[in-house]
Amino acid sequence: MTTRRSQTEEAARLLQQRKEINDQDFFLPHLTREEALRIVSTFREQPPSSDSSSSVSRQDTAVQSKQPILPSPELPKSYKDLRNHALACTRCGLAENRKSVVFSDGVEDASVMVVGEAPGANEDDTGIPFVGAAGKFLDLLLATVDLSRERNTYICNVLKCRPPGNRDPRPDEIKSCSPFLTRQIQLIQPEALLAVGSFAGRLLTGQEKTALGRIRGEVHSYQGVPLIVTYHPAALLRNPKWTFAFWEDLQLLRQVLNSG
Ligand code: URA
Repeated sequence: MTTRRSQTEEAARLLQQRKEINDQDFFLPHLTREEALRIVSTFREQPPSSDSSSSVSRQDTAVQSKQPILPSPELPKSYKDLRNHALACTRCGLAENRKSVVFSDGVEDASVMVVGEAPGANEDDTGIPFVGAAGKFLDLLLATVDLSRERNTYICNVLKCRPPGNRDPRPDEIKSCSPFLTRQIQLIQPEALLAVGSFAGRLLTGQEKTALGRIRGEVHSYQGVPLIVTYHPAALLRNPKWTFAFWEDLQLLRQVLNSG
């Protein structure tokens, strides 16, 4: 019987193989979208170790963020108080219709902090970020570089409440909510940040008008923390060709972690 671990190893092996033959046009070869989602629906733990043979220096490669979001002095300084504060937040109109404030998932002593856009319906129902199909795909891909919520990864979003109908976050909502993210980063102190999607990528790099394709693939710095920007996992489900670029960005993230 195939184990979860070997399924993840297989996904990593297939991605590596396609990279070696420089094939950009694939989803997960020999694995249909339904199969991948079935695998990730059962996958949660014990990923394989990734290759640590190559490394990249943070100092040499980091591109400094142009407009870092500022710390917010009025927010609580302890993690528990910050979370409680967020759970009761009414800073913007999203508070009116939410079922849950989706603060975070994963471990507080994380080496990597993943930052997404905003909760969707599944996340609003459960109070946990990235629990839908895109989140499960994200878990699978993270596992190929030895990252998981159970052991070494913290996951949150730019917005903590679901925008109605999953519309894009509005600038005023981002402005109200982003101080929570700033404080989360200060308190978690990850070794590296992974921004998935253009809202998180643009906010954390300060490159608000730049296309995501132009800010991915390199190491930025957010207040001294190495930052990698990549596609949103939901975008990968719509555009399978981007899976390769996402995986390359994960390799870069792994190199940053290994060099730290
Ligand atoms: N998309 C996001 O950006 N975040 C979630 O938590 C779920 C979907």
